[in-house]
Amino acid sequence: ARRLARTSMNEQDHITLNVDLGERSYPIAIGPGLLDDAALLARHIGGNKVAIVTNTTVAPLYLAKVAGHLRAAGRDVLEIVLPDGEEHKNWQSLNLVYDALLQHKCDRKTTLVALGGGVIGDLTGFAAASYMRGVPFVQIPTTLLSQVDSSVGGKTGINHPLGKNMIGAFYQPRAVIADTATLDTLPARELSAGLAEVIKHGAILDAAYFDWIEANVEALLAREPQALAYAIARSCEIKSDVVRKDEREGGLRAVLNFGHTFGHAIENGLGYGEWLHGEAVGCGMVMAADMSARLGLIEPAAVERVRALVRAAGLPAVAPDLGEARWIELMEVDKKNEGGEIRFILLKPLGSPSITTAPLDILRSTLAACSG
Ligand code: NAD
Ligand code: MG
Repeated sequence: ARRLARTSMNEQDHITLNVDLGERSYPIAIGPGLLDDAALLARHIGGNKVAIVTNTTVAPLYLAKVAGHLRAAGRDVLEIVLPDGEEHKNWQSLNLVYDALLQHKCDRKTTLVALGGGVIGDLTGFAAASYMRGVPFVQIPTTLLSQVDSSVGGKTGINHPLGKNMIGAFYQPRAVIADTATLDTLPARELSAGLAEVIKHGAILDAAYFDWIEANVEALLAREPQALAYAIARSCEIKSDVVRKDEREGGLRAVLNFGHTFGHAIENGLGYGEWLHGEAVGCGMVMAADMSARLGLIEPAAVERVRALVRAAGLPAVAPDLGEARWIELMEVDKKNEGGEIRFILLKPLGSPSITTAPLDILRSTLAACSG
């Protein structure tokens, strides 16, 4: 049974979803123009003092609007603008946030607002988790990836020179406000990267949603507000359902890594930043589907559906030729992390996950068939 019951359309014509985590439950508001809705912003962002953390790309687009509405509502607003880029998701940027909060005498009631993509969301969330042992945190995600993925699940953190996302905390926001209109300014490549995680949610957990994405991929690429709002809502619902059952990543949450075992090898093999994460995941899903068919878990036609949808979303469906030895070496990095054999998240059938190991000759065949 699908859990759509908690989704409602309210009078302002946006969707409100409740992420059900007991005391840590929070609403996700989704729709076009939410950043123009002063009352909605004021309702979801509590406290007298608010610190908005954003970056040099997003600030000129949306900061004045958000800060203006909050000031008009009587809030004391501090603006913290960080340099843009994954390479700045580090302790130096985190320290800039702490510096600003302390210089402005922000107390434990100050609400931190993350205005930006997943980098700003992760870093601001960790700042909120750690500043004075925890202050309220609200996410305003402005990339499709952050609206469908990183703003749900409570993972926050920064990178360390020796590893991505190695320093962090589980910390839930008080609210998430996803304005689909902010996606109008997003580069096409970033939009497609976000679609990879949308496709993932359908492929792994909801066959009917996968059908819907196939039928609506053009509308999504055209940034039609209703299509975007539905995809964001359904993806947040699917992810929050998994997170609700496995908040601290005990097991089930692993299914969200569909496409990521191959994808991480691509990102790592090419050097981080060459392909966007979503691009590597898109291609990784095709590879995982190919492997599923080789193991007899899905029909060959299902592999073609995944490949066609990944292509239609503007994502690469053929992996770079890293060489078989290098591929296996890269995938064994993941294996070491797991402390055993390589565990693949596969499909059985399309719309359901199956976590399994695979014989080396099957892996070799998939690598040969899917890269070049
Ligand atoms: P990002 O935050 O780097 O944003 C991508 C680019 O788009 C940046 O240059 C950004 O400034 C720009 N941008 C953001 N919003 C814009 C807008 N509306 N218009 C124009 N440009 C805009 O990348 P991302 O893909 O959003 O997030 C990736 C990060 O998220 C990674 O650090 C990853 O580790 C993290 N992540 C976290 C989780 C989680 O569960 N916490 C899940 C997935 C990814
Ligand atoms: Mg991902």
